[in-house]
Amino acid sequence: MSFDSLGLAPPLLRAVAEQGYTTPTPIQQRAVPEILAGRDLLAAAQTGTGKTAAFTLPLLHRLSAEAVDPAHRHVRVLVLVPTRELAVQVEDSVRTYGQGLPALRAALIFGGVSIKPQIETLRRGVDIVVATPGRLLDHVQQRTVDLSRVGYLVLDEADRMLDMGFIRDIRRVIEKLPSRRQNLLFSATFSPDIRKLAEGLLHNPATIDI
Ligand code: AMP
Repeated sequence: MSFDSLGLAPPLLRAVAEQGYTTPTPIQQRAVPEILAGRDLLAAAQTGTGKTAAFTLPLLHRLSAEAVDPAHRHVRVLVLVPTRELAVQVEDSVRTYGQGLPALRAALIFGGVSIKPQIETLRRGVDIVVATPGRLLDHVQQRTVDLSRVGYLVLDEADRMLDMGFIRDIRRVIEKLPSRRQNLLFSATFSPDIRKLAEGLLHNPATIDI
């Protein structure tokens, strides 16, 4: 199977080719069409399977197809991740794969650093937020982020987020999201806690177990 048959916009295919990718990985082959079709997704995926591109590519495709006024950006995609390192990696993928698209802006939100530059970035308007749950909740409580128009939620490495004790923060963040949205949950393992989270969050999800 080639990338061409996945239904992604030409600028995304060019970005993928520029990275030297010739074939979509198994998770990409299965997840991209489901995400493009607007379905919720429950995916079992380890690091190294190409899972980041599996959600980043179709979400960039969806965003670039939506008409927005660049002067009035609002957060449309929220990606929650367990660690700063993963946040940096996801944001890097957004930038790399999105280079040929009309400029989309992403904010990186994580703790352990000054909150002020993050507030400034959010204030200027972003389309995508990649965040760890604790610091994002700080922004929610300080009303420095508006999540009321998020259309896509990704929980990446959800099992690690639960292991790190983020479940309450995650639930509080989710309360701030509109109910009409697409939800994607990626996890290396499926504990009872992950299943419970998935049951409450996902509507008729496509399930992928690579
Ligand atoms: P991830 O599982 O998202 O952490 O990705 C693991 C690595 O695989 C990253 O370095 C990606 O750049 C790379 N990668 C993602 N998709 C592909 C692909 N279709 N072909 C080759 N490498 C890929």
